[in-house]
Amino acid sequence: MSLVNQLLLNTLIVITPILLYQVLWIDRQEHPGQFHSARIITAACMVVSLLCMACPFELYEGLQYDFRLVPLTICFLYAGTFHALGVAAVIALYRLVLGGTGAYLQLLLLPLTCLLLFAASRWYWSGDKRELAKKAFILGGALSLVSVLATWFIRWYEGSPLLPAFYVYFPLFCLLLSGTLSLAVLLIEQIKKNIRRRNLYHRADKMNVLGELAASFAHEIRNPLTVAKGFMQMLKHNELPEEKRKIYSQMVLEELIKAQSIVNDYMTFARPQLEAVERLDAKPLIEKALKTLESYARLSNVSLDIQLDEKLMINANKEKFIQCIVHLCRNGIEAMPGGGCLKVIGAVHSRSVCIDIIDQGVGMTEEEIRRLGTPYYTTRGKGTGLGMMVTYRTIQTFHGRIDVTSQVGKGTCFSIMIPSVQSGSYH
Ligand code: ADP
Ligand code: MG
Repeated sequence: MSLVNQLLLNTLIVITPILLYQVLWIDRQEHPGQFHSARIITAACMVVSLLCMACPFELYEGLQYDFRLVPLTICFLYAGTFHALGVAAVIALYRLVLGGTGAYLQLLLLPLTCLLLFAASRWYWSGDKRELAKKAFILGGALSLVSVLATWFIRWYEGSPLLPAFYVYFPLFCLLLSGTLSLAVLLIEQIKKNIRRRNLYHRADKMNVLGELAASFAHEIRNPLTVAKGFMQMLKHNELPEEKRKIYSQMVLEELIKAQSIVNDYMTFARPQLEAVERLDAKPLIEKALKTLESYARLSNVSLDIQLDEKLMINANKEKFIQCIVHLCRNGIEAMPGGGCLKVIGAVHSRSVCIDIIDQGVGMTEEEIRRLGTPYYTTRGKGTGLGMMVTYRTIQTFHGRIDVTSQVGKGTCFSIMIPSVQSGSYH
């Protein structure tokens, strides 16, 4: 392999874990504020240092170099001295396995390098990302200088003087190592900056949503309360006939029930994660949900067509799941004022339990589908416009999703997809 190829390979070995971290790990973090776990960094640095040592490059005949100092330094700086000593131990062990006089030199050199890094880690942490990259460059220069001087010393001690070419190649090695370390630091600092920025946006977004929701919640709850207040004031008049008194009382009650259902839906939205999740068979739960809707469907002239496979195992909360099915089915029934057929199909497709709820109702336009799930969006007089929002949110907490396909005048299909759990496996 040519020198350029070897150099590129070494740089790639150092850079790849950093990029992989960016691509694979960041979005999996449960706590977005935290940047890293020291253990992950240490394990990655151990692997990288071993790979670096396994693929050295030959700058000059008989003089092999590698970038093992880069992962060691990164570990010192980003995971702490204790973890970095583990990486140093791995380097020392592997070097001993490789053998040769260089192995003993390495044993001498490693404590010196660690001492230098320990002292430098205090000096290092100040300044912005560019400054840190500059400091990493200087640190890389100092470290490579120490290791090259040690080579020079051992050669001198053994009485095998170095060729003049050595003096040309060793500054080159210093430069390469410093450059790679600096690049690694620059990438890490940029990733950290991106995470910080993303968290900031995240928080601002959350506050916006909360503000909007609180404002619309207050607005929605005020309507029934205002109506109830009006009727209550009228009820205060003594000369009101008994018949009207009854009607007004009934209206007050209805408005209060509406206010209560808004509060209930809002609470489900605000705290869905408090519900316990367990492994369940969805089939009997769907049947139970449809049972509660039977009389409502009959009243609306809607027939129910149920096709459910056996063992639809999911991780979910029993009550919340039933609530979602009831809600989607009721929406389907309400969408068919002239009657029709509501189909509920449950099956397992490619590791997901899929539940399709299909009506032959009024359907929705693209715009209406887009607005589904936004707070207080309703086209029905008695609706609260919170049902779909709660349903979306609940299915999300089961790590599932809802797809909607609809055609105006023909009907709508809500497809719930929740990861299926094999019987016998525990998640
Ligand atoms: P609500 O039922 O209180 O109106 P939802 O959040 O359940 O609130 O639904 C919001 C709106 O979405 C409904 O008012 C209706 O316009 C529309 N919608 C929901 N489900 C269907 C459906 N199956 N067919 C047609 N429109 C629907
Ligand atoms: Mg509804």
